[in-house]
Amino acid sequence: MLNQDLVGLGKKRSTIREIFEYGNARAKEIGRENIFDFSIGNPNVPAPDAVRRTLLSLVENTDPVALHGYTSAQGAEPVRAKIAESLNRRFGTAYHAGSLYMTVGAAAAISICFKALTCSPEDEFIVFAPFFPEYSVFIEKGAGAKCVIVPPRIEDFQIDFDAFARCLSPRTQAVVVNSPSNPAGAAYSAETLTRLSALLQEKSAEYGHTIYLISDEPYREIVYDGIALPCPARFYPATLMCYSYSKSLSLPGERIGYVAVPDVPEFIDLYAAVCGAGRVLGYVNAPSLFQLAAAECAGETADLSVYAENRRLLYEGLTAMGYRCVKPDGAFYLFPQTLEPDDRAFCERAKKYELLLVPGADFGAPGHMRISYCVQTGQIRRALPLFQKLAEEYQ
Ligand code: PLP
Repeated sequence: MLNQDLVGLGKKRSTIREIFEYGNARAKEIGRENIFDFSIGNPNVPAPDAVRRTLLSLVENTDPVALHGYTSAQGAEPVRAKIAESLNRRFGTAYHAGSLYMTVGAAAAISICFKALTCSPEDEFIVFAPFFPEYSVFIEKGAGAKCVIVPPRIEDFQIDFDAFARCLSPRTQAVVVNSPSNPAGAAYSAETLTRLSALLQEKSAEYGHTIYLISDEPYREIVYDGIALPCPARFYPATLMCYSYSKSLSLPGERIGYVAVPDVPEFIDLYAAVCGAGRVLGYVNAPSLFQLAAAECAGETADLSVYAENRRLLYEGLTAMGYRCVKPDGAFYLFPQTLEPDDRAFCERAKKYELLLVPGADFGAPGHMRISYCVQTGQIRRALPLFQKLAEEYQ
């Protein structure tokens, strides 16, 4: 007997992956330069040179048995200490080695949090649409809990606090925030986080249990127009900060990130629950070599300037053509409205011009499309006339 739920999940690739594979197949037929793949969030800038130098030095100067061996499940102690120090310096937090748990990217970090905080199948996790589609998979299939979706506030993709308040219940275990977000690029201001924190504190007191905040921050360093991004953990103590080096250091395939847990007596067993969840999920330990590389390069980033230029070109180009779009504060996605209400039909039609876009329905916001602009700037320049032709079909 097989778990038919998982068979179904395995057969049904995510739409993003499906479009990505379609693009690869199409590239073989007509050449990569003729495909305008805006589907996947795979950074197109190289990792900084510090990563290369660190890896070479580690490989040349470290005992290979130690270098490639298991570390403790939560990650090597000096690695965690170094990353905690870097966080405290940059964000004024109070982490230490014992409050960090190294993970296999942000996907593992958030999966671990959902697992750690699920006590019963009735437990609920709240996400704000539009949201990273894997959240619902990790919550429902991974942790066996319920995913409650706050509908999108499409004028700015900020939190609709009335709709959010209606979603909170005594079953709420945690709320997920992702600032700046995938797919809308929306970042939360200090004012928003203050209001969020006040509401969670009020509801935690009313329900008699802590509602945790899971802050998924893989795009933390990718913000525009000089925005100072506030750190959610500074606003709400019961925050599990999930991070990944996939985007900031352009290391998505190396699978390295962490969960940072507050070390205060009130949440005494939270770290133990995170460690327990990692064990149950069989992660064993995050990749040893890349733990060391991440610690050495903590606080550094790849050259992210190309994303700012891509955002400008796309946003200005598309809005001039009549596409309606909220200007993203960060990350490397644009999330415009599609030119017909059926976003899947629109994205199908875009394929005629070899434009590969992801329907907003996959993120809980139908009537939109996600354009991932972590691509060569030349691809955007060449794609703009095609977006124009597509728009003309609707005039
Ligand atoms: N969370 C969000 C919002 C993402 O966009 C992604 C990846 O695109 C992840 C988590 C997973 O990141 P990682 O590659 O570090 O597992």
